[in-house]
Amino acid sequence: MAPRDLNEPEPSFRQSVDLMFNRAVALMDLSPGLEEKIRVCNATYTVRFGVRLRGSIHTFTGYRSVHSEHMEPVKGGIRYALGVHQDEVEALAALMTYKCALVDVPFGGSKGGLRIDPRVWDEHELELITRRFAYELAKRDLIHPSQNVPAPDMGTGEREMAWIADQYRRMNTTDINAAACVTGKPAHAGGIQGRTEATGRGVQYALREFFRHTEDMRLAGLTGELEGKTVIVQGLGNVGYHAAKFLSEEDGARIVGVIERDGGLFNADGIDVVALHEWMMRHGGVEGFAGANHVSDGSSLLEESCDILIPAALEGTINRENAERIKAKLIVEAANGPITAAADDILRRKGTVVIPDMYANAGGVTVSYFEWVKNLSHIRFGRMQRRQEESRHQLLIDELERLSKDRDLGWTLSPGFKQRYLQGAGELELVRSGL
Ligand code: GLU
Repeated sequence: MAPRDLNEPEPSFRQSVDLMFNRAVALMDLSPGLEEKIRVCNATYTVRFGVRLRGSIHTFTGYRSVHSEHMEPVKGGIRYALGVHQDEVEALAALMTYKCALVDVPFGGSKGGLRIDPRVWDEHELELITRRFAYELAKRDLIHPSQNVPAPDMGTGEREMAWIADQYRRMNTTDINAAACVTGKPAHAGGIQGRTEATGRGVQYALREFFRHTEDMRLAGLTGELEGKTVIVQGLGNVGYHAAKFLSEEDGARIVGVIERDGGLFNADGIDVVALHEWMMRHGGVEGFAGANHVSDGSSLLEESCDILIPAALEGTINRENAERIKAKLIVEAANGPITAAADDILRRKGTVVIPDMYANAGGVTVSYFEWVKNLSHIRFGRMQRRQEESRHQLLIDELERLSKDRDLGWTLSPGFKQRYLQGAGELELVRSGL
C-alpha cells in the first residue's frame, strides 16, 4: 500500500485500525464484500443512565460495542475513562476480534466503556455506578456467559468485575453458568490465578520470543540478549507495571524511563519499578520518587534513546507529531493502538520495528479464556489435575499387579503400598525397590 500523504489529517483511532486492517487484507485473497463485512462494527449500544449520588442525580454515558459475532461469546474489556467515546470503543472492539483470532481463543470481539473519571468517586459510589451500568448491559444480553463476556480494561479491575458478576447473578438466579458472565474476577470469587499479571506477562513473553529470532533482531538493529537492554515504559498501570517488573526481575532488562500522568522519571542506571509502584500507590504519582530524575513533560521521554519503548497506556501516543523523533529501535505495543496509522508509516520508513498490540497484549484475553472455561466446567483446576494424577497412579498399580500375576514374579503389592502410592507418596519406594 502507498504511504500516506503526511499533509492529510491524523486518522481517528478507528480509522487507524481500519487502515491497518486494509493493509493486512491486501495480502489476502478476500472478496471486497467480505473485507467490508469483516471490517465494520456490527452494533454499538449507547446507554445514558442516572444514579443518585451526593444528593443529586448524575447522568453517565456508557457503550458496549460488538464488532464481530462470528464466534460467541464476544469478548473484551470495559474501560472507565473520561475520554471514552463511540469511535474508541468501536476501534477497541475491532482489535479484540483480530486479537482473539490471532491467538486462537474462540471469541468474537467486543469492548465497552463508561465516560467517567473513576478517581473522583469513592468506592461505594463506584459500586452503585458499576452495578447500574452492568444492569443496563445485562438486560440486553450485553453481559452474558454465552453471548458477551466483559473483562477489565483501563480504569477497571478485579473489584469492578466482582460487582458485575454479582449484579448478573442477582438478575439471573437460575443461571448455573453465571460466574462465566465476566472474567478478571478476584481468585476467591471465581477468578483465576495470574489473570491480573497476564497482559504484562504476555508482553514479556513477546519480547523473549523476539530475542530468540536473530533475523528480527537484525531488522531492528539489535544484537545480543534481552538482558541489559534499556527500556522506557509509558504508563505504569496494570499492564506497564507487570511488564516492567517481570522484564527487570526475570530478564535483566534495565528500565531507564517511566512516563506517567504527572511527568516522567529517568535514570540511566535503571529504576526500581516495584519501589516506584509502591510510591505511586501512596502518593498518586511519580513526582518526588528518589530513585530517578523527574521531568515535568513526561512525553519528552518517548523520544529518549533506548533499545525498547513500551507504550502501555492510551491509543495514539505515538503519532505523526513525534514519530520521526522516536529513537527506540523496537516498540512493543502493550496498549491497544498506541501507534497511529500515520506514525506507523513514518516508523516503517525509519526502520523501527514494531511488535503489534493484537499479539503483544493478547496475554490478558488468553488467560480470560481459561477463567471462562474454568467457570463453565465447574471444576477447580487443581482438582482436575489431581484426578488425572490419581488415575495415572491407579493405572500403574493395575499394570504392576497384572505383571506379577502373569509372569508369576513371586511378589504382590501390599495394600499399604497401594494406598501410599495412590496418595502420591509411593513413587520413591517404587524406585528404591528397583521397579
Ligand atoms: N481488556 C483486555 C484487552 O484489551 C482484556 C480483554 C479480555 O480479557 O476479555 O485485551
